[in-house]
Amino acid sequence: MKCPKCHKEEMLRETYENIEIDRCPVCKGMYLDRGELKALLAKGQGNIADNLKFSPTSDIMDALDAFCFRCNKKMTAAKAPGDLDVNLCENCGAIFLDQGELATLQFNTQRS
Ligand SMILES: [Zn+2]
Ligand SMILES: [Zn+2]
Repeated sequence: MKCPKCHKEEMLRETYENIEIDRCPVCKGMYLDRGELKALLAKGQGNIADNLKFSPTSDIMDALDAFCFRCNKKMTAAKAPGDLDVNLCENCGAIFLDQGELATLQFNTQRS
């Protein structure tokens, strides 16, 4: 399957902190199932996906067509803690993080 966002290359299966994720070799974005994001974030901080607020005015770049692999639906621009713009599948809760966004997310959730 091609990257859901830049559509350039096949996603690679990678292991990150013992969790298997799909990562794009071009834009370095990662596609995470709902459970995978929970597992990647610190224990007790696992409800990030549930707490994401949908932003009605989607931001330019982050609103770029990211399609959920599973649902084949356009992902929605959403706000994560720390005013981070991410792509979220409203249907299954999968999330697409651009390069560096996971680290920001982890940092922000550890602080709060
Ligand atoms: Zn990509
Ligand atoms: Zn989905």
